[in-house]
Amino acid sequence: MAIASKAIGAKTGYIYLRGEYKFLVPKIQEELDIFHGIMKELKHNFKIQLRLGSGAYICGEESALFESIEGFRGEPRNKPPYPTTCGLFGKPTSINNVETFVYTFMICRIGVEHFRALGTKDSRGSKVFSVSGDTPKAGIFELELGMTVERFVEEFGDGDTKAVQVGGASGFCVPRKKFSDTIIGFEGVPTGGSMKLFNSSRSMYNVLHNYLDFFSEESCGQCTPCRVGCQQLLYGIEAVKKGEKNSRYLDELVKLAGQ
Ligand code: SF4
Repeated sequence: MAIASKAIGAKTGYIYLRGEYKFLVPKIQEELDIFHGIMKELKHNFKIQLRLGSGAYICGEESALFESIEGFRGEPRNKPPYPTTCGLFGKPTSINNVETFVYTFMICRIGVEHFRALGTKDSRGSKVFSVSGDTPKAGIFELELGMTVERFVEEFGDGDTKAVQVGGASGFCVPRKKFSDTIIGFEGVPTGGSMKLFNSSRSMYNVLHNYLDFFSEESCGQCTPCRVGCQQLLYGIEAVKKGEKNSRYLDELVKLAGQ
């Protein structure tokens, strides 16, 4: 962030931390105190403030995050204007995941060529993945981009993986038959890093139910297709579960989701 501030002339930076990670606050604050000491020594006028969210999923969207930092309800803004011209407090803003800043620093340190040697033509370098679900190796891992889901499952599966959710709740669910020809990267399934494995003890119907429940709960309510559509999809699959609709109704819901 200090390098970025030098590049764009920013005097203030913000770290936005989800409410669920409040336990990290003392550690981050301790690091920020050290950081501000270094900035002072370097005579670089740049300070970082730590701001906490309250756990809303949508505040991962950049403009909803701005709203939240500004003290408003976390709802995405209409675009344009984009953050680079009108972002936080109406000022031009560079907004990135902490991971991106970490990579920028790492690339500065190890050199572009070294980084470009990893990954594929369209997906260079490595990426941090959070691996969860039915895996004996849950945790955070840095992996080279461009591997197939099959290769990923060989590394992290429990021998019975039937699907992998790539990119979190709003990402892609890759079924077993597609493992070998699906690349984790921009030429296949791009991901923010979340990888969840499901084995055959899991009902994909329940997985779907769980995700729809999540989206119904997390919709910020601004857009009708999301606010009403997620609810309707949830009611629909619950009706199938209760036997009020037969399983063919799921095809209707797929059509509804596509509209
Ligand atoms: S209603 Fe849904 S799609 Fe619309 S801005 Fe809110 S979360 Fe996003």
